[in-house]
Amino acid sequence: MSVLGLVRPELRAMVGYSSARMEAGSDGILLNANESPWPQDPRAPLHRYPEPQPLDLRERLAAVYGVAASQLLIGRGSDEAIDLVIRAFCRAGRDAILVQSPTFGMYAVCAAVQDATVIDVPLALEPGCSRPFDVAAILRSVTPAVRVVFVCSPNNPSGTVMPRSDVLELATALKGRALLVVDEAYIEFADAPGLATDLDVHPNLALLRTLSKAHALAGARIGSLLAAPEIVAVLRRIMAPYPLPTPCVRAALAALEPRSLLQTTDRVALIRRERQRMAAELRSFACVCEVLPSEANFLCVRFADASAVLSSLRDAGLVVRDVRHHAALHDALRISIGAPADNDRVLEVLRSLAQTQERAA
Ligand SMILES: *Cc1c(COP(=O)(O)O)cnc(C)c1O
Repeated sequence: MSVLGLVRPELRAMVGYSSARMEAGSDGILLNANESPWPQDPRAPLHRYPEPQPLDLRERLAAVYGVAASQLLIGRGSDEAIDLVIRAFCRAGRDAILVQSPTFGMYAVCAAVQDATVIDVPLALEPGCSRPFDVAAILRSVTPAVRVVFVCSPNNPSGTVMPRSDVLELATALKGRALLVVDEAYIEFADAPGLATDLDVHPNLALLRTLSKAHALAGARIGSLLAAPEIVAVLRRIMAPYPLPTPCVRAALAALEPRSLLQTTDRVALIRRERQRMAAELRSFACVCEVLPSEANFLCVRFADASAVLSSLRDAGLVVRDVRHHAALHDALRISIGAPADNDRVLEVLRSLAQTQERAA
């Protein structure tokens, strides 16, 4: 079965909304979209509907990600792509997605909205476990209802990277059965590049990339799905007609200028150095049970008393993510790598907490 055979049948045949901008472009005197002829601010005009998928941004992103422009769908963050994929592939009340907990919460949220079941094959994150990602266990759990398998690598909130050979083995085994979506939101911080070069050989593989993390544009909401052109075409049909606001497109284009890309590369390198420094320093504290290996811009840290650490950090004005609701991380906090001075403050708080606890003992 081609990957299009996995799409909800009614969507395969559906004709999407045809907007004025799609039908006629933006050349000439535009009297076709009921817009105002005058901008509010002539220095940054916003009176025209935007291009649904601006060609310059698609080409720029495609070049950065190493794919063809036809393999790229740009959305309101990769969050939108997660929602579109589940809506396109899962029939409500019948189909399922598969995830590996602990992982990013949006897969399950979007599945719930679409009334798709979530099958969970937990990662093995116990200390000392060398292979957290178990392809055989995943394949045993892929029932005929499973239409989409999500793999988050590096994984949020653990930081774990799934080995490329394992992910590709999974893609091969799922061919004709399910779409494999690899969420690479943090791939810029990882040691190895992502799977963009593998898309051409794996038609049932899709990747999520975002400008929100390494490219410092979380507020602009620009994320991409990289996949076979026929998947991109289906998702475009069910997506809002004008998903990309003009100021966000401008901000994304500026972030992809060569000078900005160099700055991003430098900042990623600094975050990676700080991640290594923080992991080493944190491991030296008696109150730290484990720093999970992370290739993202955060560390997942197990503490002897996570509540005490959380409240000390909070008292010092430091906000970290409590991830203890994940069963496998019942003693852990997720700490983003900040600027060096921010990271130093985290270490200071832990030092003074250790002193207080020593005095009390
Ligand atoms: C932050 C994050 C995203 C969301 O990215 P947006 O492009 O901002 O929507 C997607 N996946 C994971 C795993 C994330 O942590």
